[in-house]
Amino acid sequence: MCEKVVNVERIFNENVFTMGKMKERLPKKVYAEVKNVIEYGGELSPETADVVAKAMKDWAVELGATHYTHWFQPLTGITAEKHDSFVTNPDAEGRMLMEFSGKELIKGEPDASSFPSGGLRATFEARGYTAWDCTSPAFVKKDATGAILCIPTAFCSYKGEALDKKTPLLRSMEALSEQALRIVRLFGNTEATKVTASVGPEQEYFLVDRDLYLQRKDLIYAGRTLFGAPAPKGQEMDDHYFGVIKERIGSYMKDLNEELWKLGISAKTQHNEVAPAQHELAPIFNTANIAVDHNQLIMETMKKVAKRHGLACLLHEKPFAGVNGSGKHDNWSICTDNGVNMLDPGATPNQNIQFLLVLACIIKAVDIHADLLRQSASNVGNDHRLGANEAPPAIISMFLGEQLEDVVKQLIETGEAASCKEGERLYTGVSTLPDLQKDATDRNRTSPFAFTGNKFEFRMVGSSDSIASPNTTLNAIVAESFCEAADVLEKASDFDVAVHDLIKEYLAEHQRIIFNGNGYSEEWVAEAERRGLPNIKSMVDSVESLTTEKAVKLFEKFHIFTKAELESRAEVLYETYAKAINIEALTMVDMAGKQLIPAVITYTTELAASISAVREACPEADVSAQTELLMETSALLAESKKAFDALKKETAQAAGMEEGESQARAYHDQVMPAMSKLRAPLDKLEMMVDKEIWPIPSYGDLTFEV
Ligand code: ADP
Ligand code: MG
Repeated sequence: MCEKVVNVERIFNENVFTMGKMKERLPKKVYAEVKNVIEYGGELSPETADVVAKAMKDWAVELGATHYTHWFQPLTGITAEKHDSFVTNPDAEGRMLMEFSGKELIKGEPDASSFPSGGLRATFEARGYTAWDCTSPAFVKKDATGAILCIPTAFCSYKGEALDKKTPLLRSMEALSEQALRIVRLFGNTEATKVTASVGPEQEYFLVDRDLYLQRKDLIYAGRTLFGAPAPKGQEMDDHYFGVIKERIGSYMKDLNEELWKLGISAKTQHNEVAPAQHELAPIFNTANIAVDHNQLIMETMKKVAKRHGLACLLHEKPFAGVNGSGKHDNWSICTDNGVNMLDPGATPNQNIQFLLVLACIIKAVDIHADLLRQSASNVGNDHRLGANEAPPAIISMFLGEQLEDVVKQLIETGEAASCKEGERLYTGVSTLPDLQKDATDRNRTSPFAFTGNKFEFRMVGSSDSIASPNTTLNAIVAESFCEAADVLEKASDFDVAVHDLIKEYLAEHQRIIFNGNGYSEEWVAEAERRGLPNIKSMVDSVESLTTEKAVKLFEKFHIFTKAELESRAEVLYETYAKAINIEALTMVDMAGKQLIPAVITYTTELAASISAVREACPEADVSAQTELLMETSALLAESKKAFDALKKETAQAAGMEEGESQARAYHDQVMPAMSKLRAPLDKLEMMVDKEIWPIPSYGDLTFEV
């Protein structure tokens, strides 16, 4: 095979207006000003903004760009864009010059009145504003629309309230930086000028054949299958996980990587995941807001490239019942700008007092705000994952690993951690193989919040969700904890004693959140309840945690959300839940009413005809098989029809309610169970009805025939 060789070093960042390109294209003074604003905040002068805008436009036009857009992330969880061309009025001779001003770069006024705002915007003042987030680089997106210059922006209301996922994230990053700096200062670090949250999200996804996908209305409208009997084979052989990547999938991954590299996204790891047709991609970690932008681009590019390969990419948390769903492990750490990862324990964590304080602060934060973290990882799809037997349970707990657990235990018991377990050597037993040093921070895959060496891995996040909320929450709760610690320690007369006491106090008080056992077990659920840890089972139940007194105090203190912003978000979540379940219910009604029930009727009619025909041709023939089948299918058909009517009724009732919590609860408590009742008999029927008659592709067709 003669393949075109791609020079990855050359294509990487090809479509990104990097610092390097700015340096090349901007006058020295302008570049210095921009760099300063990117690193330390502030505003560009209008003159500088004009120069930057022109350079950015010239660069984009060289790549074929005709339009620009302020690219933003409304509360829909995905991205939004409205294109404006660089075209200006022609002069008297009909000549036109493509232009882009500093004002257009910095601020946009999309009408955007139709995005969810949870009542923050009355329609008479519906206008939203987008403001350039210069810390995330501009890029050119190329697709059928042409080449579009995308400017990452935050989206706010006329009164400055956040209408998006980006604004609170940026606010939380600033809060964390400020409070973390106070901590490192206490330990004598005078050089650091800021602290950055770094995030590396591992993205799971499914790929199915696009022609088959298009035959299933549930996949088209709901992103997941709403009917479907299990295939004879699932994931029990563990042969898909890390298995050889099929050619069709491999060529998809190759194309995907190239697209991502051009966008400056450092796609690093790819492999098959546990469920059939499930895969994963992980980029190298990046600054939190850039990681959030990149993750949006990864999801979008995954879908786009899939189409090109005759595939459909499913990002839903639970596309198929009975096999694993998809999540997004959110790896999070905090680093100073002079190169200290505050989550790096070093070789002897027991002697690393700064690390122990940071760890104690995070343990405290996660314990106090477990409900908020749980909320930040909830979306409609994730309700099928959290608490099911494959994903971290809905209970937040922390896994520290053997080494740290031991250090924490010593500290709580004696106030000192004299020793520290070392990673042992792992003997391979083969003379030609090297013996390995075991990682002292071992892994526990069942923990929702695990320490993994020099970062925490928050594993609850759903595959289709934006990672903005989980990281905003993490940054906020840790900022609060740092702030409280710094308040005490900055005033201490004897710092060493004070820090020692504080670490011990935090660990002793919040140790209930640490759990190193099997998070999937029944015993843990009971144990967690004894410990008083929240077990919030659904998205609907999690919403109220946003507006508790504790949450409002936290978010207002650090200017991340006002109470009004939190209330508006809660409202949007209830609405989103209701709408999503409504779509699923209507899709089931559509499929059952127009496809599945008619197919069963066709089949029962065939059976009946067969019975009569056989009897007529040969009155002594045994027709018990057909008769039994007819009886069974007819009974299930009757059950389906009853459940179908009930679902229609429940859905209409819920749809008629006023938007808000009660409506969301009605969808959760009434409509969802009615959906299960319709699915059950129809899934049984799928296993009985002639495959030629069954109108939609099966689980086997979808997940094995890729
Ligand atoms: P796993 O074994 O869980 O797959 P990996 O080592 O592959 O973990 O890392 C998963 C993700 O964590 C990657 O995106 C990686 O870049 C990111 N990561 C690694 N170190 C850090 C760090 N210090 N801070 C944040 N993310 C990190
Ligand atoms: Mg992982």
